[in-house]
Amino acid sequence: MNSDEYREWGKKMIDYSAKYLETIREREVYPDVKPGYLKHLIPENAPLDPEPFENILEDVDRVIMPGMTHWHHPHFFTYFPTANSYPSILADILSDTLGVIGFSWATSPACTELEMVMMDWLAKAIGLPDYYLSTSESGGGVIHTAASESTLFTLFVARDSHRIKSNSGQNDDSESSATKNVGSMVVYGSKLAHSSVERACLLGAVQYHPVDYDDNYSMRGDLLEKAIEADVEKGLTPFFVVATLGTIACCSFDNLKELGEVCEKWGLWLHVDAAYAGSAFICPETRHLMEGIEMTDSFNFNPHKWLKVQFDCSALWIKDKKKLDTAFHLDPIYLQHSRQEEVVDFRHWQIPLGRRFRSLKLWFVLRSFGVTGLQNWIRGTMDLAEYFASLVEKSEQFELFRPRSMGLVCFRAKGSNDQNRALLKSLNEGREIHLIPAEVDNTYFLRLAICSAETTQKDLDNVFELILRHFQKL
Ligand SMILES: *Cc1c(COP(=O)(O)O)cnc(C)c1O
Repeated sequence: MNSDEYREWGKKMIDYSAKYLETIREREVYPDVKPGYLKHLIPENAPLDPEPFENILEDVDRVIMPGMTHWHHPHFFTYFPTANSYPSILADILSDTLGVIGFSWATSPACTELEMVMMDWLAKAIGLPDYYLSTSESGGGVIHTAASESTLFTLFVARDSHRIKSNSGQNDDSESSATKNVGSMVVYGSKLAHSSVERACLLGAVQYHPVDYDDNYSMRGDLLEKAIEADVEKGLTPFFVVATLGTIACCSFDNLKELGEVCEKWGLWLHVDAAYAGSAFICPETRHLMEGIEMTDSFNFNPHKWLKVQFDCSALWIKDKKKLDTAFHLDPIYLQHSRQEEVVDFRHWQIPLGRRFRSLKLWFVLRSFGVTGLQNWIRGTMDLAEYFASLVEKSEQFELFRPRSMGLVCFRAKGSNDQNRALLKSLNEGREIHLIPAEVDNTYFLRLAICSAETTQKDLDNVFELILRHFQKL
């Protein structure tokens, strides 16, 4: 394909993508295919000779679309949202066009420098403490691929900086240094923390100690401290706590202030996983939920969930960038450059070496919508969720598991867990709507997360009627 053909097909591709999103409502939200469906639709081997692009694009409708779950369909309410917007798509085209690998400042100064400024814009827009800004003495932000990567990475940094700190000044042969043994190091998170926290512990070969939550599904300081005391008693080494703001099951919030006080007292790293709910902090009225933020060591949320920036864009801030000088900080000659004493090289701030020019997405989105536009979007989503919650509350057959939180409604039919399981099965088999369940304290419930920008109150009326119909047929 030459540049003229690229122009022609590029315009067609944009038309295709605009039409797809414009008419997404007309599609069925969930596909009806069996595993292995796709390999019957395409040849067994790659073609030897070039094919016209026309044929390739045509096959998208034949091969791909039948197997698509349409995440931006107004009836998609599963998991948490994934963001989608035209400015963000356009930014990714530019990023792909420039095609740089920004592992150090020298590989493309604009890639590193825009990322630093965008992370500052974002930190200020959601009300993070000044110490997270790149303009502060100590901290800064970086874009990761996913929240799970941020948790794993900060766990590694905390683990190694803790060991370096604990071992410094000690005789290296000292057997008494339990901290040398990674296997005795302990991480804490709520029992409602995302599974990626426990997985990070498995990957990091450290112990995981899940902590109970209170009546509000919130991890509290006293229970955390009890767990720490018991582990220290056993000769273990607590070092890292993950506070969740917006749990995946029911969007509950850990008590950051209490956890922060405990972490300060015991010298533990406090990381915040606000993957979904962090976007809402762009609205000042939600910020009471992050009270205690000034006691945290790292903070992560996914603009790619709820803030109009396409996957992948997971924003991580670290309070003390000197802590990145840990055991896995390497500097081979082929990656060095003459300015490295003066600048940030983001390869030290992540697990992979290579990185895309992702801050373009933030730049395009923050400017196209403005902070006000993004606030309106977040508030609109919360209003829709509140509307659905009011339908549940008004009905005789259904109840809320807990009050609406952010854009998530947790609800259930008044009845047994088995009845609710049967209801969910019936709904999902109907394929007009798809929900995932959660189970907390032995109560099984359904989760409805407002995901699509196309969802309206009328959609929610229809969806609730659909749910009632399925329930009555059980
Ligand atoms: C979505 C989510 C994650 C995982 O996010 P990825 O970016 O896919 O890794 C982790 N924690 C919470 C609370 C989430 O909502």
